[in-house]
Amino acid sequence: MFDHPSFDAHEGVHAFHDAATGLKCVIAVHSTALGPAAGGCRMWNYPTGEAMLTDVLRLSQGMSYKNAMAGIPLGGGKAVIWGDPKSGKSPELFRAFGRAVESLQGRYYTAEDVGVDVSDMATVREETRFVAGLDEGAAASGDPSPVTAKGVYLGIREVARRLFGTDDLNGRTIAVQGVGSVGGYTCEHLAKAGAHLVITDIDLDALNAVAKKTGAKIVSPNDIYDVDADIFSPNALGAIINEKTLARLKVKGVAGGANNQLVVPEMGEFLRRKGILYAPDYVINGGGIINVAAEISGSYSRDWVEATLARLIVTLGEVLDEALETRQPTNYVADRIARARIASARTST
Ligand code: NAD
Repeated sequence: MFDHPSFDAHEGVHAFHDAATGLKCVIAVHSTALGPAAGGCRMWNYPTGEAMLTDVLRLSQGMSYKNAMAGIPLGGGKAVIWGDPKSGKSPELFRAFGRAVESLQGRYYTAEDVGVDVSDMATVREETRFVAGLDEGAAASGDPSPVTAKGVYLGIREVARRLFGTDDLNGRTIAVQGVGSVGGYTCEHLAKAGAHLVITDIDLDALNAVAKKTGAKIVSPNDIYDVDADIFSPNALGAIINEKTLARLKVKGVAGGANNQLVVPEMGEFLRRKGILYAPDYVINGGGIINVAAEISGSYSRDWVEATLARLIVTLGEVLDEALETRQPTNYVADRIARARIASARTST
């Protein structure tokens, strides 16, 4: 464990096995310096235990950085359940997972992630109160995507301000990949601001609905990288900034809500060299976790969410400015600031 390349000084890595249900899960707590660790629970049919461990360690560290940049009183953690989400789920399994979460006595809060949905979390809630992202209950925050999308829209304006000297999007062209929850709401904000939209999705119904609402032009999923736009906004998949797509991009900025947009961190430097200003994904998409933090606090407040989101956008602006001034990739600057925030919380406690 301690030699694992992704260990990165995790505070705790907890493996659980429940013989009755077959549950095999790992809960990784990267840091509680800023508050209890929070991060979703993923269910995935990993090829090996090693692949499972690598995934949870990386995701957990990522949550630490994301929560630190969002300025919320939460640390970073993540859980993974080993199994096929299509065939391996049962209420007993999620109750056993709930007992695992409960055994950490609030050092880790869970929520849904890939392969796990709100109804699974409702089952987990039967065994532990350390769960967020629920539909019902006193402080339930529901769907976080409108808040995420508002952050993405405000973040696109920050990128535009640095590129064009104004954050006025009237007449600017934005290419949007994915018009699901986050992409769809983002398009509505952008259209209201007068931007020309070029959109793509593999879901034709979602695509037509957003085009009808916003007047967007539709292109095929493969053509989105070639669009002559000012800014590219990825809101669907990870790893979409890679050697092949980078060569095709004609935009001046990349700013969208999708997680893990860069295939490898070094892509940040390649974007910079190509003169493309990149809003680090885990900073610009922090609206969702801000919404979840409001739920964890026990008393959901829309005003607190708005104020915290506004501060997140100021932080994003600081990342962009420092990167431009010091000619560094924006993602490296964001990582440095996140690490500094966590270290300073550690020394002050
Ligand atoms: P979603 O499932 O509602 O939307 C994703 C959309 O992408 C779908 O409409 C899907 O058809 C489309 N898509 C899939 N493959 C595609 C392809 N090859 N080309 C074009 N479109 C494709 O999901 P969402 O909640 O909107 O999340 C979108 C992204 O934002 C994900 O990466 C997610 O992890 C990230 N994110 C979401 C939130 C949130 O609050 N929902 C918060 C932070 C990050």
